[in-house]
Amino acid sequence: MSKIKIPLQRKKKLDSLFEALSITGDDIYVFLCDMNYDYSRWSKALVHEFGLPSEYMEGAGAIWEEHIHPEDKKSYHDGIEDIFAHNANGHDMQYRARKVNGDYVVCTCRGIVITDESGNPEYFGGAIRNHSQESQVDTLTGLRNQYGFFESISQSIRTHTETKIGIIGVNKFAEINEVYGYRFGNRVIQHVGRFLMEHVGSRGGTYRLDGSKFAVITQIQSMKELKENYARLRSYYREGIEIDGTFITLELNAGALELRDFDTDDKTVYACLNFAYDESKLKKHGDFVAFKETRDHDDRGRIVMLHNIRNSITKDNKGFYLLYQPVVDADTEKIIGAEALLRWKSKKYGVVPPDSFIPILEGDPLFPDLGEWILKTATSDAKKILEKNPDFTLNVNLSYSQIEQPNFTDRVWDVLKETGFPADHLCLEITERCRLLDMDLLKNVIVTFRAGGVKIALDDFGTGYSSIGLVKNLPFDTIKIDRSFVQRIEEDDKERKLVSNFADAASTFGARVCVEGIETEGMRDILREYGIYSFQGYFYSKPIDIKELALME
Ligand code: C2E
Ligand code: CA
Ligand code: CA
Repeated sequence: MSKIKIPLQRKKKLDSLFEALSITGDDIYVFLCDMNYDYSRWSKALVHEFGLPSEYMEGAGAIWEEHIHPEDKKSYHDGIEDIFAHNANGHDMQYRARKVNGDYVVCTCRGIVITDESGNPEYFGGAIRNHSQESQVDTLTGLRNQYGFFESISQSIRTHTETKIGIIGVNKFAEINEVYGYRFGNRVIQHVGRFLMEHVGSRGGTYRLDGSKFAVITQIQSMKELKENYARLRSYYREGIEIDGTFITLELNAGALELRDFDTDDKTVYACLNFAYDESKLKKHGDFVAFKETRDHDDRGRIVMLHNIRNSITKDNKGFYLLYQPVVDADTEKIIGAEALLRWKSKKYGVVPPDSFIPILEGDPLFPDLGEWILKTATSDAKKILEKNPDFTLNVNLSYSQIEQPNFTDRVWDVLKETGFPADHLCLEITERCRLLDMDLLKNVIVTFRAGGVKIALDDFGTGYSSIGLVKNLPFDTIKIDRSFVQRIEEDDKERKLVSNFADAASTFGARVCVEGIETEGMRDILREYGIYSFQGYFYSKPIDIKELALME
């Protein structure tokens, strides 16, 4: 094949023909080869997706062949050879091609040869359709689905394009389905989808994620504009719409994120977005919540750090370890248990406390694996302590995404069997974030655990606005009063009253009370008056490693 460099005029012609071909749309890739010079231009999207060297290539046929599945290579090779040997005037074939991430996707490739005035082959051009993209469309709304969404995020990351991403969802959509029926629910989804698409228009992409969640991805709009658009959308649906003669109002939630660091991946970005979305839903009554990279200072690295932590989970939980904070009997001050507390450590970040990653990653599909590791490690560590101290109870924190797993209770029994730790010396702590779960499911899980001897504690009591509701509806063994309520107890008699009321409420429902955050003798003395069962706090001990715990009396 020719090695002569393509003249500028010919390149210009190639470009204009290529552009004419490209108007077919985004989901079809286009290629065009000037056969005299074996010089081609291929769609940018394909070049990125499959990791080709450049949009412009010499000898593109051979380069592309490298990406074709070994089993399909021969027929592809023969087809191209026929074209360049002038034995064929086109091809129409299907093969598997390898994307940059290593996955093979099925492609259909159609091309034709264009001849010059004297009948000699001049151009070979056509289109390649990536069939995996077809499943990126949601059939209900016609919007791209979550595969498309992940693909778009990955592309922004790959091409280092600053991007704003928002997730919008309909509140209590399950209730709409229940009250009006599934079909009506679908119409609601279609309505919101259409409204979003019309209003985002060409300033971004619109996607339907799972259930009643949608996403908008834009490079053009600022966060401020995204927020303003959401406010308009929200008031539109608040005023109400009519669908099939039924008038309904919708409440929405929204979380958003600005992607500016690219040393991350789509799944981490999604975890951060979901966190912002849940904040909007649980704490802000649907107000727009933007994911903040850090709470304290303007360091932009948070998404990157989360990416590193997330990766550790996939690498056998490398970097994670547990510390244990003793729990003491409020009267005798003897150790009656300890709470396992997670840490993550790396060379770059040092020791990272759990508050800076658990709330964000706990909704991630990977988190249950980490949760199981925590339970396994803690129970096998604590077994040794239990041998010395038969009254010892181990507390382990749970995340809502663990409880949500279909076989969660079975998994816990399996771990207990494996480590030989007795169920009735384990207490699982759950927090208010469990409100994200279906209440019947949660109740079921709690009842199953308690029937098997495992105790259940409600953690951080008082910090959310439905604490009392939870205690009323669910059978807890222990209520842990959050340390924010006891911090000023020595100076503030209102705080004292509040804690005493909390303690009364808990015992009304038959639960024992543990107070966290005891830092001084004074606090202890005051709290001893309130019928509290156990204490935990720096006054007794900070979280320590298992060896130190074993040495404590
Ligand atoms: P938490 O469950 O409320 O844990 C108690 C937190 O309060 C711990 O922080 C502990 O170090 C701190 N603390 C204890 N006593 C005192 C005190 O006297 N004064 C002060 N100022 N602080 C005290 P840590 O270890 O940073 O954990 C933070 C949160 O991270 C935990 O709050 C829990 O919600 C979550 N977490 C920790 N480990 C795990 C885990 O293994 N799984 C899950 N799902 N969540 C965890
Ligand atoms: Ca806890
Ligand atoms: Ca707590």
